[in-house]
Amino acid sequence: MLISDVTQVKAAPGTVSFVRQLFQGKLNADVSGQGGVTFMSVQAGSYRADQMVAAPAEVQVVTPALDASAIRQKPEAPFRESTRAVDLTAADIIVSVGRGIKEKDNIHLVEELAAAMGAELAASRPICDNGWLPMERQVGSSGQTVSPKVYMAIGISGAIQHLVGMKGAKTIVAINKDPNAPIFEVADYGICGDLFEVVPALIEEVKKARG
Ligand SMILES: Cc1cc2nc3c(=O)[nH]c(=O)nc-3n(C[C@H](O)[C@H](O)[C@H](O)COP(=O)(O)OP(=O)(O)OC[C@H]3O[C@@H](n4cnc5c(N)ncnc54)[C@H](O)[C@@H]3O)c2cc1C
Repeated sequence: MLISDVTQVKAAPGTVSFVRQLFQGKLNADVSGQGGVTFMSVQAGSYRADQMVAAPAEVQVVTPALDASAIRQKPEAPFRESTRAVDLTAADIIVSVGRGIKEKDNIHLVEELAAAMGAELAASRPICDNGWLPMERQVGSSGQTVSPKVYMAIGISGAIQHLVGMKGAKTIVAINKDPNAPIFEVADYGICGDLFEVVPALIEEVKKARG
């Protein structure tokens, strides 16, 4: 049995279950194998590489007895080639923008900050739904799951569907004008203010610091 896209492993004496998301991240399900060999794959970005602990494990070689005539699925040509040009899961620093940016013409502001910081640019879903940034830059339950060293959330409220995609970041910085925005609950550093004032000042400071 294969359990794919696992985000958490729950181990107790004699039993193990796996957590995976259903319905585009609306539900977390505990799933376990039905006996026999269980294979699992882990959702990209679910675990931080710097927290991995190497532990010796027993390696078991499995040679499944496969009878080709028992395979009922016949693959056809791929429906759509995967064209993911941006791999946010590999980024150390991510500058992510939300609806607080107001309109497409203002996106250049966060692009400039990302460039100054050497960061990848990401976004919340409304930004990608509006076509202001490509879908491949969306973070969240229906986008990419990321765990960078720094995640800067700019004008993002912190809806649960966004948080599941970025709460594994080592350091979260939030810029939001609403002091009650849920993003501040997960932020390590918060700037409560107007992004149109804060971001230009940050760009200037980062450029100064980098020479
Ligand atoms: C099935 C499903 C799947 C979903 N998947 C995803 C997903 O993968 N990713 C995702 O992001 N969302 C996803 N969503 C949508 C999610 O529920 C939220 O609607 C979305 O994350 C909100 O985006 P936002 O924070 O940019 O916008 P908003 O919630 O509108 O927040 C905008 C924020 O900007 C702040 N702001 C406004 N003006 C300024 C300013 N001048 N300066 C500073 N701050 C300002 C506001 O205070 C507010 O907090 C999904 C929803 C569903 C139902």
